[in-house]
Amino acid sequence: SSAAPAPRVCVVGSGPAGFYTAQHILKHHGGALVDIYEKLPVPFGLVRFGVAPDHPEVKNVINTFTQTARSERCSYYGNVTVGRDVTVPELRQAYHAVVLSYGAEDNRVLGIPGENLLGVYSARAFVGWYNGLPENRDLKPDLSCETALILGHGNVALDIARILLSPLQLLRKTDITDSSLAALACSKVKRVWLVGRRGPLQVAFTIKELREMINLPGTRAVLDPADFTGLENAVKDAPRPRKRLTELMMKTALEKPGEKAVEGLGDSAKAVPTGDVEELECGLVLSSIGYRSLPLDPAVPFDSQRGVIPNSSGRVEGVPGLYCSGWVKRGPTGVIITTMNDSFDTAQSVLEDLQGGVLDMIPSREGFGAVESILHSRGQCQAL
Ligand code: FAD
Repeated sequence: SSAAPAPRVCVVGSGPAGFYTAQHILKHHGGALVDIYEKLPVPFGLVRFGVAPDHPEVKNVINTFTQTARSERCSYYGNVTVGRDVTVPELRQAYHAVVLSYGAEDNRVLGIPGENLLGVYSARAFVGWYNGLPENRDLKPDLSCETALILGHGNVALDIARILLSPLQLLRKTDITDSSLAALACSKVKRVWLVGRRGPLQVAFTIKELREMINLPGTRAVLDPADFTGLENAVKDAPRPRKRLTELMMKTALEKPGEKAVEGLGDSAKAVPTGDVEELECGLVLSSIGYRSLPLDPAVPFDSQRGVIPNSSGRVEGVPGLYCSGWVKRGPTGVIITTMNDSFDTAQSVLEDLQGGVLDMIPSREGFGAVESILHSRGQCQAL
């Protein structure tokens, strides 16, 4: 009714999940007010600090997000770390609905000896370094060796291999940071091993990224033909994307090696140790085995086994008015489109609950006004 207060919605995190959730709520509820809180000064999460600099077309989603941020009913508050500067219960007091979209801030680790040695870096840190993430600005990865090894068979592993092996004139056209460009200009790395625990049928990268690697000027992708024997039959009935990906790898496996090289090495298909051990000499190791979400606040349930907030269609289990979207909702896999779809699904739950009278629509929810007082009382200020 016209007497009902404008619903105030708070979104925590300004990556694709946060922005797509905000966009959907603003579009389908003409009166809703959405405030987005972000711990960094600047928005867009992994679109800014994850997506590779030579993928500008992927970063175009920033235009859509900027449009959302320009809505009169949407506000952005940077430099606010939720869980530290303001708690989730405090946000729930200030808003009718709170959506947690804070992504996956941690790395999966192997738990093996040597993981913390000098010269071993996480993919997150390396990617943050070439993308200008403040906390990784001074990483200074040691690129004085000829051989690097990347652990992992996903798109992030291929991104890193591509950045390490790309001709400088290609990188110069991108928005890679000047300091990482300068470091890469002195890099001696000319061979990159991609090591995964399973076989070619289980790789997690996609055909676009593989094709880019294969077609990279001055670089040759080398795959061991022995890993591909008998795969024609195994892949016959696989879904089309897997079939095309495997066929491209099989075709590449039969080509001859050249100068700079990316080499793929996989273990058994079921990731059961075979007992075979190979020694690979390398001066640089990058661990790209995945990301992990962390619990944000003791008041929010967290499934530490799966690394997600337990939810159904984005509704956090047992906490009415609290929602989640993106990687913290379904785990750190999938591209931006996947994140968009699951964020729209969460936004739909928020809209249904707003319209269905499920949420406590008391008018005294003050939104940012209340949060601002809390931040001031703790000596925090934020960039608007
Ligand atoms: P994020 O993008 O991580 O956003 C979470 C946001 O929350 C961040 O801004 C973070 O700073 C903020 N935050 C965290 N904690 C707090 C807190 N306590 N308080 C306030 N704010 C907080 N997908 C593609 O489609 N194409 C690609 O080329 C591609 N490349 C990728 C490359 C890399 C290296 C990675 C890791 C992923 C890539 N992806 C790509 C996947 C894509 O980035 C993800 O699907 C998407 O970013 C997940 O969105 P999210 O909003 O859940 O998380």
